[in-house]
Amino acid sequence: MGTNIVKAYGTQSATDSLKEINIQRREVTANDIEIEILYCGVCHSDLHTARNDWGGSVYPAVPGHEIVGKVTKVGAGVTKLKVGDHAAVGCLVDSCRTCASCKEDLEQYCLNGFVGTYNGKDKHLGGQTFGGYSEKVVVDEHFVLKVPSNLDLAATAPLLCAGITTWSPLRHWNVGKGSKVAVVGLGGLGHMAIKLAKGMGAEVTLFSRTPSKTKDALALGADAVVISNDEDQMAAVKGKFDVIIDTVPYVHDVNPYITTLNISGTLVLVGYLGGLEPILNTVPMILGRKSVAGSLIGGIAETQEMLDFCGEHNIVSEIEIIKMQEINEAYERMLKSDVRYRFVIDMASLK
Ligand code: NAP
Ligand code: ZN
Repeated sequence: MGTNIVKAYGTQSATDSLKEINIQRREVTANDIEIEILYCGVCHSDLHTARNDWGGSVYPAVPGHEIVGKVTKVGAGVTKLKVGDHAAVGCLVDSCRTCASCKEDLEQYCLNGFVGTYNGKDKHLGGQTFGGYSEKVVVDEHFVLKVPSNLDLAATAPLLCAGITTWSPLRHWNVGKGSKVAVVGLGGLGHMAIKLAKGMGAEVTLFSRTPSKTKDALALGADAVVISNDEDQMAAVKGKFDVIIDTVPYVHDVNPYITTLNISGTLVLVGYLGGLEPILNTVPMILGRKSVAGSLIGGIAETQEMLDFCGEHNIVSEIEIIKMQEINEAYERMLKSDVRYRFVIDMASLK
């Protein structure tokens, strides 16, 4: 199988900064689509992976799983898209396609392990997969999404992770007209959760530690903002919410949020991975049939459903466009929660 060498940005270790490197992409096989990457969103997971926060990062690591671009080549068997079309790739580039999860369009829960867009096991070239901080990517058409033509391309990129990661739990827990939804943390995922829940007809409240984000949250569509370290404000929303989407990336106390759930309400963790501290108090859960749950991105069919919904409702991300060379500063700003509300890399800067 032939290969081609493309420019990318990656890091050689958890403590290095990201720099220009060369990586390999495979030549298209029968079902592959080659995409020239035009924009790539910057997810907090990119930073977690670059710095090995979760363990298991393989180096060099090239992050990026909010990819939009233009089709430059297709394999003989490809029917989904043609050369010149816009195309998108999210967090998944492969899965077994045969297990019970894959058969239910839940590729993210593939029982044999999904292949992540970066830091996954590359079945074609060996080694690890490399993400969207690069000129091109080659992906099986099953894992390539169609982009609604009315949406701004750069602002669509974050839908591929921040969008689907918040869409999937909102749908799974049946959010709709009249639902009372709260979102914890106003970053990339949080701002998409507000827009999508609002689009579904819910009443939406933001929990934030950052009072200066209040005005933005209301402009994004939130009906109310609760400053999470203000006890009076927290007490005022006791027992209110049907669903809470918690996007906080680091360990934090979830107990105060559980008291704001209604009877049978669910708090869905999508941000932090790991053991909770302080420990979870089961008393309010048992006395109110409340759940604490988790959720991982979304399947391919569901991602297309979310993109089509965003096309119909004109929903995109609020973005700040950066050059590839500005990625290390962008990570530092992300660590200070100073993102309004997603960085998107203009890949032309890598040329
Ligand atoms: P982000 O843009 O950095 O936003 C996170 C927000 O959380 C911040 O803006 C801040 O909001 C709040 N926050 C940050 N640190 C906090 C702390 N120590 N305590 C309390 N609140 C804090 O990050 P993101 O890209 O939205 O990603 C959020 C998390 O989701 C990351 O851990 C990422 O890896 C994970 N993720 C998970 C999935 C999945 O499938 N489950 C998919 C994508 C990403 P305020 O200033 O409003 O408090
Ligand atoms: Zn992500």
